[in-house]
Amino acid sequence: MSASVIQNETAKPLPDYAPVPASAFGPAPNEQGYHVGRIERNLYWVTDGVYQAAFLTTSDGVVLFDAPPSIGHNLQRAIDEMAQANGVSNKVTYLVHTHHHADHAGASSLFGKDVVRIGHEETRRLLLRDDDPNRPAPDETFSDRRTLQIGGERIELAWHGPNHTPDNSVIHFPEHDTLMMVDIVNAGWVPVFVVNLSDDIPGYLSMPATALTYPWKTLISGHLGRLGTRDDVTLHQQYMTDLEASARTALDTVDPTPYFAKYGAVGNLWGAVKNYLNAVGDATAAPVIEKYTGVLAAADVFTPDVAFWLMESIRLNRGYGLQVHP
Ligand SMILES: [Zn+2]
Ligand SMILES: [Zn+2]
Repeated sequence: MSASVIQNETAKPLPDYAPVPASAFGPAPNEQGYHVGRIERNLYWVTDGVYQAAFLTTSDGVVLFDAPPSIGHNLQRAIDEMAQANGVSNKVTYLVHTHHHADHAGASSLFGKDVVRIGHEETRRLLLRDDDPNRPAPDETFSDRRTLQIGGERIELAWHGPNHTPDNSVIHFPEHDTLMMVDIVNAGWVPVFVVNLSDDIPGYLSMPATALTYPWKTLISGHLGRLGTRDDVTLHQQYMTDLEASARTALDTVDPTPYFAKYGAVGNLWGAVKNYLNAVGDATAAPVIEKYTGVLAAADVFTPDVAFWLMESIRLNRGYGLQVHP
């Protein structure tokens, strides 16, 4: 169904956005709503167009990486399809988590009690805290690094400090030239809302460079309909670097005086703060939206949100744009 058909069927059409570049899309999902594809040898990825998971078929069963509830029962369908085609076991024996968020882990309980769940020690702590029956805490954990050898396949888990979440970790498949790093880079698309809903912005900003220190060709980014490349990571880095430079310029040039004159006069200090900082955020976003429209999908949709939160991080984490009273 084309976007124009969706709009025609909707009583109140969405406001118009710039067209999404064709390069942002991946393969069309099947009639059950998923696409499964081989990355290399026995490593596969599955997507519903918005979320992604991955799995390895091994002589010791299937190792599943993340379990987004939006893919849900299609995870096992995708595994069945590939296992049958290749004459291997379709039984999920291990589930490895990138992080604790429910939108990437909420189908965990579908795989039963006997699956060995593996994740960062913070993933375990946060899942015990959240106490969600759909996301049992991992039994096996790691702190900085851990190498898994499952059915003769090598999987490298690494935690590089807090970023999108306190626990978000990367999964390197050295024998498959692939990196799974979720909720940092959206291949072909801008980040969503407040810098991809991230807790630690400096940590988030450092992850693309960390990803590029690993040897790999294919990125499983956890979102949207296609796999990523190293070029997707460098384009994302450029976008964030441009936003940061634009935020510094905006903090240097947007004059707070009129906002404090207007709202301060009636004693509404939050009115002044909100309207001044929103103006700084808008000034941050404007040149970046112009540069990336047609380059990164939805640059016009989410750059204002991303710009605002990045600008706040530059003030609060980097200390830029704050003056000490004389
Ligand atoms: Zn997340
Ligand atoms: Zn996500």
